[in-house]
Amino acid sequence: MQMDSGAIGASLRSLRPALAGVAALGLPINLLMLTGPLFMLQIYDRVLVSGSVPTLVVLGGLAAGLFLFYGLLEGTRSRVLLRISQRFDAQLSAAGFECSVSLPQMIGRSAHRYDPIGDLEAVRRFLAGPGPAAIFDIPWMPFYLGVIYLFHPVLGFAAAGGVFVICILVGLNELFSRRPAAMARRLDMQRSATAEEGRSNGEVIAAMGMMDALKERWSLSNGDRLDKQRWTGDRANLFSTIIKTFRFLLQSAILGIGAWLVIAHEITPGIMIAASIMASRTLAPVEQAVGQWRNFVAARQGLRRLKEALETRGDEPERMALPLPRTSLNVQNLVSGPPGHTLLQDVSFSLGAGDGLGIIGPSGAGKTTLARVLVGVYPVVRGSLRLDQSDLCQWSSRQRGAFIGYLPQDIQLFSGTVAQNIARFAPSAVAKDIIQAARLADAHALISALPDGYNTQIGARGSALSRGQVQRIALARALFANPFLVVLDEPNSNLDSNGEAALTSAIRTMRDTGSIVIVVAHRPNVLVGVDNILLMESGRVRRFGPKEDVLKKVLAPVPGSVVAAQ
Ligand code: ADP
Repeated sequence: MQMDSGAIGASLRSLRPALAGVAALGLPINLLMLTGPLFMLQIYDRVLVSGSVPTLVVLGGLAAGLFLFYGLLEGTRSRVLLRISQRFDAQLSAAGFECSVSLPQMIGRSAHRYDPIGDLEAVRRFLAGPGPAAIFDIPWMPFYLGVIYLFHPVLGFAAAGGVFVICILVGLNELFSRRPAAMARRLDMQRSATAEEGRSNGEVIAAMGMMDALKERWSLSNGDRLDKQRWTGDRANLFSTIIKTFRFLLQSAILGIGAWLVIAHEITPGIMIAASIMASRTLAPVEQAVGQWRNFVAARQGLRRLKEALETRGDEPERMALPLPRTSLNVQNLVSGPPGHTLLQDVSFSLGAGDGLGIIGPSGAGKTTLARVLVGVYPVVRGSLRLDQSDLCQWSSRQRGAFIGYLPQDIQLFSGTVAQNIARFAPSAVAKDIIQAARLADAHALISALPDGYNTQIGARGSALSRGQVQRIALARALFANPFLVVLDEPNSNLDSNGEAALTSAIRTMRDTGSIVIVVAHRPNVLVGVDNILLMESGRVRRFGPKEDVLKKVLAPVPGSVVAAQ
């Protein structure tokens, strides 16, 4: 895993001393691994020949002590590797989360190629497993070969030949496991996405009896995944088995060659046994590494994808804190849209503090897209979007949160308390501001009626609440801390007439305090609270101006057509 710049590089660099420690532990561990073969050598060549029990006892005690020490070091190595894996995870986890949240907005559908959190988990799992220790032991192969060579050159060459064959097998294994591992990961990601889609559409599936059809679709794709897994698993098992069998074969071959050398009086029987054990020991880490190869390849590919995802996300540059806007919103010849699309063309309009704007137009006109651009979700491709004198992009997203309130069309609350949701999880939020926002959104009474009031825990989907209640709490979240720019996308879609009246009053109150309130309206009732109208069609502004003027012109030819058609 190569070092590189960026967050991953920094994390790996910070782990370098610990990794160096693990590598250094390889020296005593591998030296101590000679205990078994050397003990055997002494038993055969010294104890059995002399028949000395005291020698046996001393050697036995010594070997036991060395094994104990070996166990301690091996245990320490595993503990250190586990901690390395956890530190790596802890260092990159928040960046991975940020990346997985913001990539879809930045690169649109191509974001499905990345799964930073899953990839980080693949790396962590590999680092915490037995793979790294085995890989750290592989460079010690020449050392063991050297010891076998010292026993007898013929044995050394035979063992080296065996290592050569194993290396070729490992290379072939690597070659064959690369593509299947990437494919398996892709299929796993697709599977999670499909399962999530099913969960979030549970009601639709139950209501319209779609379960059987979807189960069949799931089984088909699952069958495909199982086929690929079987194929990959068979390959991996084939290589593991070949390598394991070859290791046994080599051990016996060395024993055979050793026996021949004993007969020729070249070596002692003890050396014969010790060399055979040592040959097996030389190849043990390779065998273990091959067993872990799938995880290794998954971790390597995960690390590469994670690096790519983090680079695509990029670091938000440190921005100097600008004063909060207070006077105007100015949009000039704006071209923008979701990543890779310029749905909005040549959009221009201006608003001042206290203005209210209703965006109307047929479905697909670009109203939601404009709302998203105004709150900084989509970037400005050409033209300008200024608040006071500064372009919106001159504020960091964290700073923007201080003056933007946004109510999206598809509302999701976060798991946590109602109060936390309204306060956008700001740790320093005070109760007074939370209650003020709730009162503004006419949500105070409904929240107080909940079992735990503001401390009521809501699920990830706010499932304990009705859509209308969720919409009011989300409105309170948008109005929290009196933002200068409030953008509400269809805020009345789930509200009853009381709710709509409260919404109109909230819009007016916000405007009275100097906020600019922009409302995407599909139903005309909400337009009562605004004084300007922007009519959109096919991504362009058809009309913009004072409400009465625009509505008069729009409604004149066929009364009620445009707004009523929403
Ligand atoms: P409205 O809110 O006026 O109904 P939208 O702003 O949601 O319209 O969409 C405007 C157009 O942009 C539609 O034709 C829609 O298909 C397209 N569109 C919306 N979101 C995306 C997206 N993420 N990628 C590509 N096209 C999109």
